[in-house]
Parts: sequence; C-alpha cells; structure tokens
Amino acid sequence: MIIPKESHLTPEQETELEAIASEGGIKLMKITGETRQIFLMIGDERNEEMVSRITGLDYIDRVDMVMDPYRLMSRTSGLAGHKVRLNGKIVGDGFTVIAGQCTIDPKNPNYFFETAQAVKEAGADCLRGGVWKPRTSPYAFQGDVKSLEILMGAKARTGLPVDTEVMDPEQLDAVLQHDVDVLQIGTRNALNYGLLKEVGRKIRGRKTAVLLKRSMHMGKIEEFIMAAEYVVAQGNPNIMLCPRGTTPAMDGYRNHPDECIAPLLKERTWAPVVVDPSHSVGKASYVPFACMAAASYGADGIIVETHVSPRHGIGDDPKQAVTPDTLARIIRDCRAIAAMQKSHMGHLHVTAHG
Ligand code: PEP
Ligand code: MN
Repeated sequence: MIIPKESHLTPEQETELEAIASEGGIKLMKITGETRQIFLMIGDERNEEMVSRITGLDYIDRVDMVMDPYRLMSRTSGLAGHKVRLNGKIVGDGFTVIAGQCTIDPKNPNYFFETAQAVKEAGADCLRGGVWKPRTSPYAFQGDVKSLEILMGAKARTGLPVDTEVMDPEQLDAVLQHDVDVLQIGTRNALNYGLLKEVGRKIRGRKTAVLLKRSMHMGKIEEFIMAAEYVVAQGNPNIMLCPRGTTPAMDGYRNHPDECIAPLLKERTWAPVVVDPSHSVGKASYVPFACMAAASYGADGIIVETHVSPRHGIGDDPKQAVTPDTLARIIRDCRAIAAMQKSHMGHLHVTAHG
C-alpha cells in the first residue's frame, strides 16, 4: 500500500507512479478516502527494487506492507482514519440509527410516509425501506420497483438519507440513478463476490455508502471482513459492517444473535459497525434489549425495522417491527449506553497502559 505525502497526487505524479509499478508487474488501485488517497498494489508487492524506487519518490511518504489478509479494511491500513458519513454526520458520532420498514408496500405508500416522518421525529439519522426483497419462496412478494419512487418521496419529505437493499445489477443501476444514499447488501448476497465487486465499481467516486450484512452462515470473522474488502478495493471506502445474527438459530430466536462481535470487528478494522437486532432476534418484543446490547458492546449504531402500524405491514414488519414510540425509547437509551460504553473503554485504555 502506497501512502503519498500530500492528500492527493498531481496527474503527472500519478502517471510516473503507475509507470514504475507497471514495470515491476504491479497494477495500482486508487482508493479515495475522506481526507486522502492511497494506492493499493495488486500483484507481488515484495519486489524490493520496485518498492525502493517508489519509496525514493519525493512525493511518497511510505510503502506499507499490511500483514492482515484484508489490506484495506485492516486497522493498520492507510485508511484507518477514514470516516463514513450520512448526510455529513460521521457514522458512530452520537450513535447512529437507521430505521424504517422492512418492506415498502407499494399499495399503501402512506404507511411508509407516516413511518418516515415518525422515525425522523423519534431521532433516527437515516430511513430504511425495502424495495426488493430476498424471499425464501419464489411465490412470495418479491418487492416492486414502484416502491423506489415511494422511498425517494419519503426522502424528499423528511430530508433523511435512505437505505435499501440491492440484489442484482439492474437494481443497482436503478438505485444509483435515484441517488440512494446507502446500498444494503443482504446476508444472502454477502458472499456474492460478483455483486460485491460490481457495487464497489459503480460507487467509485460517489458519496454512496454500503451497509454490508454478515453472511448468515457462521463463517469466520475474516470471511466477513474480506467481503467488505471486495467492495472497498474498487475505490470507495464508505462501508459499514452489519452483524445481523447467524444460523443455526438460538432455540426460539430467528437467528443466533451476534452483536457481541462488535468489539472484535472494531479491533480488527476501522469500519463502523451497525448492528441489525431486528433480524437477529426476529421478534419485536426482544428488539429493544438487543439494541441496548449492541450499544453496550460498542457498536457505532443500529438498523431497526420500524412501522407505524406493524400489523398492517408486509414482509418482516408484522412480527419484528417496533413502533415509533418504542424506537424513540430505544434511541434515548442506546445513546446513553453508548456514552457509558465509551467512558468504560477510556478506563480500560488507561489501566491497560498505565
Ligand atoms: C432486511 O434487511 O430486510 C433483510 C432481508 O435483511 P437480511 O439480508 O439481513 O436478511
Ligand atoms: Mn426484514
């Protein structure tokens, strides 16, 4: 990984750097973070002669060899200071909340508009709404492109940034045309490397962010972080990691709750962790506790299915959406817990080093 001295190289410097790399059999991928650009070396970066030629350039600060398999996502990567923002606000500052319906019902857009306004009033930072849905049965409601207009209408009314899931290149093009703020990659596609690459490539140079769910099969933590690496390696590091429960489920729960991996993820990577308690526990009455658990494990935020009238919802909403008044209490309590968690971390830090 090549770290320049200044935040950006001039076009002439970039051309020179590329030429040296190419002579050494290396391809460069430019990753544009919030404050700086870094260059990922693709190929055998142990070519000592090439590395010393690059290190010798007066506009290059250093060439780092990152030992983790996830070179960009690693805490030791040149991207470690990168911040992901939603509507200009750093994800994690003040505990970020994404909330809204699992599924937008194209036949009842008013429910979504009411939900959007209500989650805003409850204090959410971003609105979620499922346009297309990954369903176990091919005969179940698969979503409807009409719901994309409803989602954008709710964004215009509330001013909240919006999140929706994409599952294929056609959906990806549609959401990018509408400038959807957060592209959700669901648990079923979390290891669909073709889609991960395509999403990464299409959001290069844009402010768009990705919320990557953890694959539901209890894979290794590396597998999750490497999936994020696929997206980020295409040039846009605006990624959030989303534990959402794994399978086999804990008896009686929808999945096996995994908000406890937040500290582990934060130790290994710089990316914000946004936990999905709704799909993890799968039952509205358990959701507030799972949200608070996520906050106490040090998550940067949560994504919570919320509906003004869950029993009139479709998809997951009747069983696991909370109402906006419950959401308001969740947000109040999670923000208080997040502040306590930070002071506890500060204490641990002092005792560990002092
Ligand atoms: C969802 O967010 O509604 C959803 C389908 O999520 P997951 O991919 O985690 O199942
Ligand atoms: Mn859902």
